[in-house]
Amino acid sequence: MAGAVPTVGSGGRVPGPPEPPYDRPPFLLDFFPLEDAGQTRLAKFFDELRLGRLTTTRCPRDATMAWPPRVVCPTCHGEEMEWIELPKRGTVYAFSAVLAGAPLGMESDVPFVVGLVDLEGVALRLFGRIVGRPWDGCEIGMSVSVEPFDVPDGRVFYRFRAQP
Ligand SMILES: [Zn+2]
Repeated sequence: MAGAVPTVGSGGRVPGPPEPPYDRPPFLLDFFPLEDAGQTRLAKFFDELRLGRLTTTRCPRDATMAWPPRVVCPTCHGEEMEWIELPKRGTVYAFSAVLAGAPLGMESDVPFVVGLVDLEGVALRLFGRIVGRPWDGCEIGMSVSVEPFDVPDGRVFYRFRAQP
């Protein structure tokens, strides 16, 4: 049997694992989380985001508000978290421009900006992409708003848009 090559169908291809779905990066390189209820207990966050609302969880026992949302309170370990809507305005605390070495799937986005945003009126600092202004026009303290966007494979995520 040495040298025998198994073939299948008329194309003569060797049977193997299914082709990877190239519309989505490999799991460990995927920057966007799995979102549906079969994959995460935080699916409500993405459902609300799809409706234009930014939400997180708060513990009804001690009022601990967490970001990102949690299924367990980081203070008392309670599991009865409640969902609250967050403000969609904020100011840039810090930012960085990605000018080279972009992650897989983001090469064509270069240059782009990522940063930390303090939401208005709550003690939460969120990380995310900042769009709507060239990287060399961004400033610490500039106003941004939260903007949900569709990931091409059907998921949803948020980013920040610089205010004019
Ligand atoms: Zn708690």
